[in-house]
Amino acid sequence: MLKANQNYLKLQGSYLFSTIAKKVAAYKEANPDKQVISLGIGDVTRPLTGTILKAIHDAADEMGKAETFRGYAPDLGYAFLREAIAEKEYRSRGIEIHEDEIFVSDGAKSDSGNIQEIFSGECRIAVCDPVYPVYVDSNVMAGRTGVYDAASERWSNVIYMPCTAGNGFIPELPDEVPDIIYICSPNNPTGTAMSRQDLARWVDYANEHGSVIIFDAAYEAYISEEGIAHSVYECEGARNCAIEIRSFSKNAGFTGVRLGYTVVPKDLKDADGVVLNSLWARRHGTKFNGAPYIQQRAGEAVYSPGGLAETRALVAYYMENAKTIMDGLKDAGYTLYGGVNAPYIWLKVPDGMKSWDFFDYLLTNASVVGTPGSGFGPSGEGYFRLTAFGTHENTAEAVRRIKELKG
Ligand SMILES: *Cc1c(COP(=O)(O)O)cnc(C)c1O
Repeated sequence: MLKANQNYLKLQGSYLFSTIAKKVAAYKEANPDKQVISLGIGDVTRPLTGTILKAIHDAADEMGKAETFRGYAPDLGYAFLREAIAEKEYRSRGIEIHEDEIFVSDGAKSDSGNIQEIFSGECRIAVCDPVYPVYVDSNVMAGRTGVYDAASERWSNVIYMPCTAGNGFIPELPDEVPDIIYICSPNNPTGTAMSRQDLARWVDYANEHGSVIIFDAAYEAYISEEGIAHSVYECEGARNCAIEIRSFSKNAGFTGVRLGYTVVPKDLKDADGVVLNSLWARRHGTKFNGAPYIQQRAGEAVYSPGGLAETRALVAYYMENAKTIMDGLKDAGYTLYGGVNAPYIWLKVPDGMKSWDFFDYLLTNASVVGTPGSGFGPSGEGYFRLTAFGTHENTAEAVRRIKELKG
């Protein structure tokens, strides 16, 4: 008898962005004269830079010649890219990560969703609340999350770690020990980042309890302050307990190009001594046929002098928007978090308002769109996410309008 995977039927509707789209469409229809500005975008908007484009064109030309044509890429990635990553992201920072611990992929979303496959269905997961939805949903699909309680918006088998202004948006070590701990820093959606000391406490905790940390560092390039961990492997002992996921999407603007990678150190083993690096290699080899040559050459170009300079300029462009938002809205009396080591600003909504009330208020009175914090989890209630991925012009105009509301 054919039967659908029942776990998929348990997935909770991702109504957040569709609700936003509906509300915005209705508003535009009723107010055709108003120019709506979105500070809700979770995607880059600047075009690819010159060095990257040249690498893409050159690689495409190679594919068009008999002598340099290439078919399937190696499952785990071309050596030229794995070597560039090991050298530029790790060894140059004094971190010992080898080429064969780096698995090139089509991006961090797939990796952060797929990595749970190498762990037993009985493992318990812990996530931050608010959270990037992929971590929970991929575990729901795997049947690891138990029963959903609509009233509390929580899964019975998931350990939620509230991240609020009260704890500086840094999760506290849970009493109940999880097997798999998801940490995203710099964080989407709160825009806050973990110090090396904060992360070191987690690494110690994971080693002490035999847990694994899945560290999503998709926004690493946005770190501007000293003392923030760029990689989990800056912490002593992380090679024994942590997997790191990285992406070219947010630093080099590859959201439409698709390229990322995951690091699984060979020292990382389960309680029986099974080497997880081999399992991920096997999984990759079976279910993934390698990121395209052209993309991998583009990724390699990110590490060239020109690529590095252009990437820094892209990040700087977005972070100028973050500063415009932070300075402008602070002036207007808002309490804001994030925005310094991440392209996200987490705004405390005015007392007495809920996240969705503030959404409606901004849309109706300023024609500005953001994302209600409650959409990322119960602890996001009372907060609102603004992103720095717009243009300078639109960002400045949105901030001007919001300030005007207060004046
Ligand atoms: C954008 C983002 C990613 C990157 O995803 P890609 O698939 O590499 O584009 C990963 N994790 C988080 C938390 C993100 O916001």
